[in-house]
Amino acid sequence: MKNILFKVIFQLILVLVSVPLWSQQTPFAVTSKPISKYNYHDAFAPFFYSKDGTSTRSASGQPGFAYWQNKADYKLSARLNETSNEIVGTSIITYTNNSPDKMSFLWMYLDQNLFKEGSRGNALIPIEGSRNGAQGQIFDGGHKIKSVKILTTSKGVTTEKEAKYTINDTRMQVFLPQELKSKGGMVTIKIDFSFISPNEGSDRMGILETQNGKIFTVAQWYPRMCVYDDLRGWNTLPYLGASEFYLEYGDFDVSISVPSNHFVVCSGELVNPSEVYSAIQQKRFSQASQSDTTTMILTADEVLAAANAKVKSNKTWHFKIKNARDVSWASSAAFIIDAARINLPSGKKSMAISAYPPESAGNDAWGRSTEYTKTSIEHYSKKWMEYPYPAATNVAGIVGGMEYPGIVFCDWKSKGADLWGVTDHEFGHIWFPMIVGSNERLFAWMDEGFNTFINTLSSADFNKGEYKEEVADLHKYSEIYTNINLEPMMSSPDNMKEANIGTLGYSKPSAGLVMLREHILGPERFDLAFRTYVERWAYKHPAPDDFFRTIENVSGEDLSWFWKGWFVNNWRLDQGINSIKYVNNNPKSGVYITIENFEKMAMPVVLDIKTKSGKVSRVKLPVEIWQRNVDWTFKHDSTEEIDSITLDPDHVFPDSNESNNIWILATGIIEKDVVLDDYLGTFSNSNNPIKIVFTKITGVIHVEISDYPKFKVKPISKDTFESKEAGVKFEFDENKNKFNMILEDGQKIPFTREK
Ligand SMILES: [Zn+2]
Repeated sequence: MKNILFKVIFQLILVLVSVPLWSQQTPFAVTSKPISKYNYHDAFAPFFYSKDGTSTRSASGQPGFAYWQNKADYKLSARLNETSNEIVGTSIITYTNNSPDKMSFLWMYLDQNLFKEGSRGNALIPIEGSRNGAQGQIFDGGHKIKSVKILTTSKGVTTEKEAKYTINDTRMQVFLPQELKSKGGMVTIKIDFSFISPNEGSDRMGILETQNGKIFTVAQWYPRMCVYDDLRGWNTLPYLGASEFYLEYGDFDVSISVPSNHFVVCSGELVNPSEVYSAIQQKRFSQASQSDTTTMILTADEVLAAANAKVKSNKTWHFKIKNARDVSWASSAAFIIDAARINLPSGKKSMAISAYPPESAGNDAWGRSTEYTKTSIEHYSKKWMEYPYPAATNVAGIVGGMEYPGIVFCDWKSKGADLWGVTDHEFGHIWFPMIVGSNERLFAWMDEGFNTFINTLSSADFNKGEYKEEVADLHKYSEIYTNINLEPMMSSPDNMKEANIGTLGYSKPSAGLVMLREHILGPERFDLAFRTYVERWAYKHPAPDDFFRTIENVSGEDLSWFWKGWFVNNWRLDQGINSIKYVNNNPKSGVYITIENFEKMAMPVVLDIKTKSGKVSRVKLPVEIWQRNVDWTFKHDSTEEIDSITLDPDHVFPDSNESNNIWILATGIIEKDVVLDDYLGTFSNSNNPIKIVFTKITGVIHVEISDYPKFKVKPISKDTFESKEAGVKFEFDENKNKFNMILEDGQKIPFTREK
C-alpha cells in the first residue's frame, strides 16, 4: 500500500482565498473516569528477546546445532547408621566435559553444608522461622569430606591421587592436576564423605520416628556436580534453602547398606531383589507387576515382626537408574510396601510402589498411594511424554512433599484429596524438572509452575473427577497474582519473600499457562507447543527464552505481550466498558460499544451483550485491538435496546477492577450518535476547480478531494469534522449546506453544497 502525505498535498494546492482566523470550538464535556496507565508501546514493542538465537540455542527455541551438555555418572555406596543417623559413603564420579572449554577445576555441591552451624542459609533464617534449614536442631550437621582423589586407569591398573580442593559453604572446588580436555574430556573423582542427617532437612529430607522405627528419607546426600552450561559457565549459586537444584544428567549405580531388618526404596530399579527380599515377597512383587490394582508386598503384620527382629548384620541394596539428574532413597524397618503395574503408552510397563508406616495405612490414606501414583504417571505419560524409569515410588515420611527421579517423599499424615494432591504434584515433577532439566535455583516457575499447571489437568482427569478442583475465579485471584508488593516471577526463589514463593513459583505461572491454553491459544495449539517444548528439552537444560520461543514458534503466535505482562513484569489488568452509542441513535440499527484498557497488561476481550428481550451474545475481540489503542470502539449488530454488557463474564482473566466490567441500562452512559447522513454530498468553491465529496462507508465519513485519495474524518464537536492525518477540519453551518475547510495554519476556505 502506498504512503500518502496529505499535508504536503494541501499546502501545495490550497493557496486560496483566506478568511479570518479559526475560532475556537467548545470542547466536549469531560467525564470523570480513571486515567489509563496502559501504554501500548510498552506492551507490544518488538524485540522482546534481549538476545538473538545462538549456535547452542536456536532462535526457534530448539537446542541449537552446537548444543552441548556435560555428563556426570555416579557410582555411589553408602552405609546407614540407624542410631547416630550418620551416612558414610563413597562416590566415584565420572565427569564428561562436552563443552568447548578446557577446565582446570570443577565445582560440586555439598548441600548438607546448609545444615552446618554458621552456613549462609542458616544465617538467612528469619526470627519468625522458615520452612528451610534444620528447624533449630542443634547437631553436627554438614558434609564431612574425608578425601578427594583423582582416579586414573592405565593398562588396567587404577591409581588414586589426592586432589586439592576448597570448600566454601555449600560448594566445593576441586582442582584438577591437569586440564580437562574440551569436547569429550573425562575425569574420574573419588570422594569419601559422611554426614549426620538432620531430622528435618529444609523440608526435603530427614527422619521420621514411628512406632516401629525411624523412616530415613535421604536426599542431597552425596557431592553433586554443579552444571557447567553455555549460559553462565559454572552454576555455583549456594544452596540457601528456598531455591532448589540444577543438576547434570548421568547414570547411577547405588549400593546402600542398612540394618538387615530395613527395607530400602530408591530411584531406579532394584537389581538384587533375591538378596534383600524373601521368596514370598519376590513372588508378590511379580504378581504386582501383572496387576492394575494394588498388591501387598509387605504387610503391617510383617512390619511388626521385622521391627522387633534382632538385627545382627547389614544388608546391601543395589539400585541402578539411567539418564537421571539425581538419586534419593529411603530406608526403614517400619515400611509397609505395596505395588501395582503402570501401563505406558508404548506398551512398556513400570511399577508404582508405595512405602509407608502402619500409622499411615488405610483406604482413606496411604492405602491408595499406589493407585494415585499409577494414575498420575499414566496420565502424564499419555499427555506429555512417556515415563522413563522402571519404578515410581511414593514414600511416607517427615517431608511435606519432595520430588526426585523415580521416587518422591510425601507427608505421612496426608490423606484423601491432600494425599492425591501431593502425590500427583511430586510425580508431576518427573516431567519438570527431572525430564526437562531447567535451572530450578533460578527459575521456580519453570519447574513448580509448569508442574502445578499439568497437575490441574491430571486432577480433573483422576477417577471421574473425584478430586477435581473448581476453576479459579481470576477476578478474585488478581489481587493475589498482581499485588504490587510481589516480586516479578522471573526472580529466583532466594530473591523472593518466602511468603511469595507459593504464588510466584506455583500458582501464578500455572494460572498463566491455564489462560494461555484455554483462552489465548486454545488447548490444541497450546498442547502441541507445550509437548514440543518437553520433547525438545527432555534431558537437557532449557532457559526461559527456550520455552518462550518454542511456544511462539510452534503455535505461530507472537506472545511477547503476554510473557512481558505476566512472566517478566508484575503487570495488572483492568479492562472496562466506557459507554455505548446506538447507531443513528436508533437501537434497531446496532450499537457502538467503547471499552478501555486501564492498566499495564493487555489481554483479549470477551463480552456478553444482553438485549432487552433477554438474548445474550458473546463477543470475542483479539488482543491486537490494544496494539495501538488505549480505548476501542466496535459495532455490535443488535436490533433492540441493550440491557447489560458484561466484560470477562466467566472471570478467566485477572481483571483487578470489576466495577467497570458491567454496563447496565439504569446507570450506563449512552452517548448521542452524530447523524452523518445530513453531511453527505458534493461541495464546491466558485473560485476553484476542486470539488469535495462527503460519503459514508461503514458508519464513517470519507472525504474525497478531486483527484486525491479518500481519507476519513471524525466528528470532533457539533457540525465539525477533523482528519489529523490530513491536517484539516470541516466546519459545517447549521443547515449542512456550507462548510469552511480549515487548514492547519488557520486558513479557512468556504465550500457550498452543489444542487
Ligand atoms: Zn513442587
